[in-house]
Amino acid sequence: MSEATFGRQAILGVLRNRNFHGSFLVLLFGYYALVYYFGELVDFAGWETLRWDFFYGVHDIHRLFFLIPIIYAGYVFRVKGAVIVTLAAFIVFLPRALVISPFTDPITRTVVFTIVAGIIGALTGIAHNESERSNRLETLVRSERDKLLGIFERMEEGVLITGPDYRIRFMNPSMIRDFGEGTGSPCYEYLHKFDAPCDQICKLPNVIEGKIERWEYDFPDGRTYEVLASPYVDSDGAVCQLATFRNITQRKKVEMELIKLDRLKSEFLSNVSHELRSPLTSIKGVISSLLQKDVNWDGETREMLLTGVSEETDRLAGLVTNLLNMSKLEAGVWQPEKERCHISDIINGALEQQKWIHKNHVFKTDIAPDLPEIYADYSQIRQVLINLLENAVAYSEEGTQISVGAKTVDGTVEVSVSDQGVGIPQEDLGKIFDKFYRGTQKRKQLGGTGLGLAICQALVHSHGGQIWAESKVGHGSTFYFRLPIVEPENK
Ligand code: ADP
Repeated sequence: MSEATFGRQAILGVLRNRNFHGSFLVLLFGYYALVYYFGELVDFAGWETLRWDFFYGVHDIHRLFFLIPIIYAGYVFRVKGAVIVTLAAFIVFLPRALVISPFTDPITRTVVFTIVAGIIGALTGIAHNESERSNRLETLVRSERDKLLGIFERMEEGVLITGPDYRIRFMNPSMIRDFGEGTGSPCYEYLHKFDAPCDQICKLPNVIEGKIERWEYDFPDGRTYEVLASPYVDSDGAVCQLATFRNITQRKKVEMELIKLDRLKSEFLSNVSHELRSPLTSIKGVISSLLQKDVNWDGETREMLLTGVSEETDRLAGLVTNLLNMSKLEAGVWQPEKERCHISDIINGALEQQKWIHKNHVFKTDIAPDLPEIYADYSQIRQVLINLLENAVAYSEEGTQISVGAKTVDGTVEVSVSDQGVGIPQEDLGKIFDKFYRGTQKRKQLGGTGLGLAICQALVHSHGGQIWAESKVGHGSTFYFRLPIVEPENK
């Protein structure tokens, strides 16, 4: 502690000591009592040199001196102190008024003075009491505010206190982190770059009237905040708005995703029901016709009808396979059983099957010689290829070409499936691998559930690979996937 601080502390200590004030008051009172009777003392002692006129005149002036100890007592010891000292002063005045004073009405003047002095002393006490009470209250309010602000400082949510004039009075660090410093500026300017309060968004007038309000702010940069505002009385007594800002951008995104997923699921369900029903209806139709006893089907018609049944059954099987695969993937029970294999074997196997089913498309291959082995689940990668080939067929005209290529790129084997079909708009390329997502392009073949590419992506990822598509609307699409080559030590 410095010397100056120590000195100040010592003085404050003395000033707070009531005994000191008591003693000082007694001295002050004694001094003025002595002055009051000094003329009589001079007469009694015969101090001729001190016989001044001042001590012998009307004593109203002398009585006025007593205001000093009375006000002092009122200030330090409040109303009680002022009353005691006033009474003591009256007792001091009495002998002169009753016995000594040669003037008229000394008693009346003494009594009037005592009453007025007593009132002044009591008022001093009351005023000091009041000012001390309001000081105490102010300190209490300030310390409560400091405590509250301390809590706000540590809050993860943003906190903003705005005055009734829309000026920002307080921002906690989270608010500053998210929006920058803005204390002192109008909230509408700080948050929205507006020139004046916006009645549509702003709830401050309601809050100041005592309401609790909750609303959401969408900012142009894509962030969404949930705001909870309630009235708050600041240390200066002004009713302000205390608002917490919670960043709910992520939650909003998830909600939107869930809504989208929900919509896609409903579409998927109606789609699947339709896809299951239509082959079943045509199969049932063909079988009923064949069972008609009164109709004699020739061999050619019978074969045509049965081929139709077979195709519809394939479609059903494909659909059910996709559904089963997706549910197996979702349940995590379709783990790849990897083994060393050649991608060319998988491509050729899948192509043979597709060539046989889709006789009206032209299938080509461009497989680099001496491709290294990959470490993969044969049936899963075959499924990927089948899904891609079926899409290539489904979204292109009969007679067009579908090419399958394979080569090594950056330590991986890259497989591509290209068609000359309708193509995919750029904005859809990021979404086509989502579950249940279906583009607006028309399928040339029946079927489709929006699951095929999602299954491809899940299977390629479970092999540590990547899958993507490139496309030009009206010219065709190419789907690529890459699978890691077997590490030398695994060979
Ligand atoms: P779907 O059962 O609808 O074919 P997919 O998951 O296989 O579902 O494909 C998702 C979407 O991607 C399709 O609805 C389609 O819009 C688009 N798509 C997939 N493959 C092709 C392709 N070869 N050509 C054009 N669009 C395609």
